[in-house]
Amino acid sequence: MKLDSLQFDNAWTRLPEAFYSGVTPTPWRNARVLDVSPLGAAQLDMDPDSIDRERLAALMAGRELLPGMTPIAQKYTGHQFGTYNPALGDGRGLLLGEAVTSQGPMDLHLKGAGQTPYSRFGDGRAVLRSSIREYLAGEAMSGLGIPTTTALAVAVNDERVMRERVEPGATLLRLSPSHARFGHVEWLYQRRKVEDMQTLLWHLIHRHRPEFAEAEAPFDAFFADVVERTANLIAAWQAYGFVHAVMNTDNMSLLGLTLDYGPYAFMERYTPDWTPNHTDAGGRYAFDQQPGVGLWNLTVLAQSLTPLVDVERLRAMLDEYEPALQRTYAQLMRARLGLTAKPDAASPGDASLVAAWLKLLEQHQADFHNAFRALGAYRGGDDSRRELAQALNIAQDDASLMAWLESYDRRLGEESRGPEARKRAMDAVNPCYVLRTHLAQEVIEAAEAGDSAPLRCFRERLASPFSRHEGDGDDWFLPPAVNAPPVCLSCSS
Ligand code: AMP
Ligand code: MG
Repeated sequence: MKLDSLQFDNAWTRLPEAFYSGVTPTPWRNARVLDVSPLGAAQLDMDPDSIDRERLAALMAGRELLPGMTPIAQKYTGHQFGTYNPALGDGRGLLLGEAVTSQGPMDLHLKGAGQTPYSRFGDGRAVLRSSIREYLAGEAMSGLGIPTTTALAVAVNDERVMRERVEPGATLLRLSPSHARFGHVEWLYQRRKVEDMQTLLWHLIHRHRPEFAEAEAPFDAFFADVVERTANLIAAWQAYGFVHAVMNTDNMSLLGLTLDYGPYAFMERYTPDWTPNHTDAGGRYAFDQQPGVGLWNLTVLAQSLTPLVDVERLRAMLDEYEPALQRTYAQLMRARLGLTAKPDAASPGDASLVAAWLKLLEQHQADFHNAFRALGAYRGGDDSRRELAQALNIAQDDASLMAWLESYDRRLGEESRGPEARKRAMDAVNPCYVLRTHLAQEVIEAAEAGDSAPLRCFRERLASPFSRHEGDGDDWFLPPAVNAPPVCLSCSS
């Protein structure tokens, strides 16, 4: 299918006035598409190779729209670092249109499209660095099976944008079934617009959760669904070492997707109270705070829904969050450790095995990702113990490792599958390619210097992160050495 054949049904523009402002993109000079995502293309029922790059570049430069698009900036508010901010909204991105696809509606959101009524003091622009980081994050999360927004493409242009330094301007064409945020509901609550809130909830139910339309209490069902999806989402973040780093309520999706990638990171050396966000000195959004912040954010959403849903019901539904998160987390971690047998009876023991494993990684500052991959290759016996110890950066005769392996050996004894089958299963859930910050930085620097091949290379690997490409050197798989010179990513395909 061609870009021009996309059909649009811009339902958000049919919502009341308070929900958005019509804004046309501010054009950039000369955009060039750096990469088109096959994943994003598939979400629009398109073949990436059949997309007209010139047309896409003009769209991403904000110069041309596709037939049927009606660009708007969405209005929302939110709690930022615990404080309510009424002045939020799409400040540098526009919802260009809602495509009709075989899988349902798909927002095309152009990030970096220029100023809007909600830009406050911002320039409405995006830079190449953050656009590439968000582009790669969508691919990596999808590759891991974690719900997320994605992108069709990233484009650079000839303008320069002032951040901490002067940087190349860029745009990201972001995709999501909806960009509805907790902050959309907060906005209507704060303005006492109960009828509009009802309109919004019915809009979301009809468009995204039609099964709730017939429920006895559709709004209750909708909130319970947000609770469950948020719990599952954050459980997956915890299981894969992802730190969002800016979990403000305006960055929380009502569909339970990872949304608005900023200073995020996948944690490498395992440090639970770590955050990559240098402006978050108190560690409010540190890795180990995320489950609690998820509940805090859901509580803000629940408060906003009090005009429409009974408070006791809201409380009861919030109570489901923690058990749901624990359940999903346990399930993911058991799979990552290769444990399948006796799921119910074995669970308490497995939970302490997981906790002791994480303690070990923390004590020895092992690389979180490689540790799981190395554990998949473990088959018992001295040689295998030695290899594992080396991979974890732990001395061979370390007592804590030996003790843990004894429990692990014992637990593996209850599994019916042998080491080969266990390794295969573990390799299918433990990625070897990880969106490491320094690797993303290499790709960004190459792109800034005019070479987008490394971007494509890394995107391909992150999209299917479980199988190793032949010929890829160790640089792909290692955390950065302290004071290491930049790595050189090469592409063998
Ligand atoms: P974020 O922390 O990226 O989720 O952004 C918080 C708010 O600031 C949102 O309402 C954004 O649209 C807005 N914003 C961030 N950067 C810019 C910018 N460069 N220009 C205008 N608005 C911005
Ligand atoms: Mg945001």
